[in-house]
Amino acid sequence: MDSICVNARAKINLSLDVLGKREDGYHDVKMIMQSISLHDKVFLKLTDDKDIKISCDKRWVPSNSDNIAYKAAKILMDKFNLQKGLDIKIVKNIPVAAGLAGGSADAAAVLKGLNEMFSLDLKQEELMEIGKTIGADVPFCVKGGTMLAEGIGEVLTEIEPLKNVDIVLVKPKFSVSTPWVYKNLNLEKIISRPDTDYIISLIEKRDLKNLGKEMVNVLEAVTIKKYEVIGEIKERLVKLGAFGSMMSGSGPTVFGIFENRATAQKVYEEMSMDNRWDCFLTETFCEER
Ligand code: ATP
Repeated sequence: MDSICVNARAKINLSLDVLGKREDGYHDVKMIMQSISLHDKVFLKLTDDKDIKISCDKRWVPSNSDNIAYKAAKILMDKFNLQKGLDIKIVKNIPVAAGLAGGSADAAAVLKGLNEMFSLDLKQEELMEIGKTIGADVPFCVKGGTMLAEGIGEVLTEIEPLKNVDIVLVKPKFSVSTPWVYKNLNLEKIISRPDTDYIISLIEKRDLKNLGKEMVNVLEAVTIKKYEVIGEIKERLVKLGAFGSMMSGSGPTVFGIFENRATAQKVYEEMSMDNRWDCFLTETFCEER
């Protein structure tokens, strides 16, 4: 096999708590991660030269060694001494720097694709170990589904898969830097935290109504203070019929969860009329176990 196309799926957070700051500067988190159907396409092709080349259809995504997908390829190819050239092409559908782990998803797709193309027979756990050295969200993107993520996000525990929940994503037309959000988070001043264990029990029962009410992301306090529009989107989604609405990751994307596709579709159309943001209609995604 000398070429392959891998779907790189985005994620949302169904809850996000920050427990403390570590000596190494990272934060300990406790969050529920959920894959969604929205995805980039990552095309891999082996070539006869020795270089890794990367390109993307969106000019604001780095097309050089700064791209995290390039880093993933380099780490894996060096580790297994794979003496080939590689052409990586990314068709980017996931908004960038939006709290949806688009870069990590591309990196995970490269690891999975190279594992197939070179018949390395690496187990998912081994790919996740390699992923950990690339970025905290990469192990989740290798595994996908519905997961409790602890540590800096790399310690994963499976939760009952939350399949096919209809989601509307609303992404304001600006980016938010994850380091900026964490720098401005005052751990002493967090007022509302998610009850993660209770949220997990709601996911197990597929109680979407209460899940919508219980979702909390402690990073919202930082982003909404600077970008009020995030709060406005949250309110509008709930007013229009979402069971609940929350910012994903460090933002600025806000998502709403819905009872059914018809309601989600209507809200997607309504929200799409405002050109301050981009909207996406999608659903939660879990591979068959
Ligand atoms: P995180 O929460 O991990 O910061 P995010 O979803 O908010 O993730 P990404 O879309 O992964 O953010 O992009 C973060 C930064 O990474 C961007 O500023 C971008 O320039 C850089 N980047 C490097 N490689 C990629 C890639 N393959 N896709 C998107 N962004 C990339």
